[in-house]
Amino acid sequence: MHSETERVYEMVLKRDPDQREFQQAVKNVLMSIDKIIDEIPEITYHKILERMTEPERAVIFRVPWTDDEGRLQINRGFRVQMSSAIGPYKGGLRLHPSVNLSIMKFLAFEQVFKNSLTGLPMGGGKGGSDFDPKGKSDNEVMRFCQSFMTELYRHIGQDTDVPAGDIGVGAREVGFMYGQYKRIRNESVGILTGKGLDFGGSLIRPEATGYGLVYLTEAILRDRHMSIEGSTSIVSGSGNVAQYTVEKINELGGKAVTLSDSSGMIYDPDGISKEKLEYVKILKNVKRGRIKEYADKYKVEYIPRSSDEANPIWDIKADYAFPCATQNEIIKKDAENLIKNGVKYIGEGANMPCSAESEKLFLDSHVLLAPSKAANAGGVAVSGLEMAQNSARLTWTRERVDEELKNIMKGIYKNMSEAAEKYSDKDNFIDGANIAGFMKVARAMLAQGYV
Ligand code: NDP
Repeated sequence: MHSETERVYEMVLKRDPDQREFQQAVKNVLMSIDKIIDEIPEITYHKILERMTEPERAVIFRVPWTDDEGRLQINRGFRVQMSSAIGPYKGGLRLHPSVNLSIMKFLAFEQVFKNSLTGLPMGGGKGGSDFDPKGKSDNEVMRFCQSFMTELYRHIGQDTDVPAGDIGVGAREVGFMYGQYKRIRNESVGILTGKGLDFGGSLIRPEATGYGLVYLTEAILRDRHMSIEGSTSIVSGSGNVAQYTVEKINELGGKAVTLSDSSGMIYDPDGISKEKLEYVKILKNVKRGRIKEYADKYKVEYIPRSSDEANPIWDIKADYAFPCATQNEIIKKDAENLIKNGVKYIGEGANMPCSAESEKLFLDSHVLLAPSKAANAGGVAVSGLEMAQNSARLTWTRERVDEELKNIMKGIYKNMSEAAEKYSDKDNFIDGANIAGFMKVARAMLAQGYV
C-alpha cells in the first residue's frame, strides 16, 4: 500500500478498533485509490482520505416508545452524515437488531461514492436503529417511527439531509415518519424519499434498486456476449431489492430459482414466475410472513439457515448470482462454492454482500463482479429524482422515471468501466466504481477548502 493510504487505514483502525464493517468498507476503497494516489498528489497534501473517512457529523440518540402491553421500550437511533461535498446528505434508514455505529458508518461511507456515481448532486449519509420490526404490530411500528422522527427531524431537511428506506424500512415506515415530521414542522416538503404515491412519492421508486441492478447487469453482460435471457439466477433475500430483481429478470426472459430470509431459503427449479412473485410480495410486504410459506404453498425445497458457515443458497448451480439480503452474506466458502459451480457474474444488490476474501476470490477467478456502489445505485438515483419532483411540485410518468433510471445506470456503467480500464483491469469494476465515485467527491472537497 502507498504510505498515505496505509497511514489513513492505520488511523481508522486505531480510532475505531471495534468497527469491523467500517474498516472493511474503507480498506476496499483505499486499495483502489492506491492505484491513482501517485498521480494526484493533492489527495495526500490536502488529507482528502483522512477527511473522507471521518463523518462530518454522527448523531446517536435515545428512542423511547411503548409496546402494545404499555411497557416502555428504549432503542438506539443513529444518523451518520458522512459527506455533503456534492450535495445534501442522502441515504437510507435501517431498522434491524444488528444496527450499530460500525454498520451505520460503513453504509454512509459507501453511500458517498454511490451517490457520486449516479451523477446527481447528493452527498452521503445513513441512519437507523437497532429496533426489530419483526413481530411488532402496526401500532408499535408507528409509535417507534414517531418517536424516532421526534429526534431525527432536527437533523434533516430538504436541502440538508434526506433519508429514505433500507432494511426494515419500506412504505409503511416512511409514511409514519413523514406524518410525524409534518406534525412537528408544519411543512409539506420532501424530507424523505420512498414516500407513498399519494403524498409526493415517485413512480418506480419501489422498483428502482432491483430494476437498476438488472439494467446494469444487462449492460455488462451484453458487452461480453451474454444475457439474462435464457439464463438461471440465484437471488438471496426476499425484501424490496430481491423482489424487483426477480421481477426484472422475469421480464427479460431469465429465470430466478431462489429467495431467502434470515430463517432459510427456497429453491424452485421451475423459476419464481410472475404469479409466484406476486404471492411473495403479499407474503412479505402485507402479511409480513416467512419465506418458508412459499415452499409450503408451491411444494418446493426449503432449507433452513443453520449456522454462520457456508450458506446453501450459494451452492445452487446458476449462471448469475444476486446477493440482495445483507452485508457479508457471501463468505469465502460460499465464493468457493459459486466458483466451483461455474457462476459467471455476481451483481451486488445488497450493500457489501461479499466479504473481502470472497471478493478477492472472484477477481482471481475472473468472475465478473458488479460492486454494490454501482449495482444498487438505482434506488438512490430514483430517490434523487423524487427530490427533483418534490421541489418542482410535479409527478413524472412511470415511463419517464424508468427511462431516466436506465440512462443513469448506463452512465454508471460507462464511468465505472472507463475508470477500470484506465487505472486497473478492464473487468475490475471494484476499482472502477471506487475511483470514478471518488474523483468527483475529491474534486469538490479540493474546491471547497479545508472543511
Ligand atoms: P428489506 O428489509 O426489504 O429485505 C431484506 C431482506 O434481507 C429480507 O429478506 C431479510 O430477511 C434479509 N436479511 C436482512 N438482514 C439479514 C441478515 N442479517 N441475515 C440474513 N438475511 C437478512 O431490505 P431491502 O431489500 O431494502 O435491502 C436489502 C439490501 O439491499 C440491504 O443490504 C440494503 O442496504 C440494500 N439496498 C437497499 C436499497 C433500497 O432501495 N431498499 C437501495 C440500495 C441498497 P428477514 O426478513 O428474515 O430479516
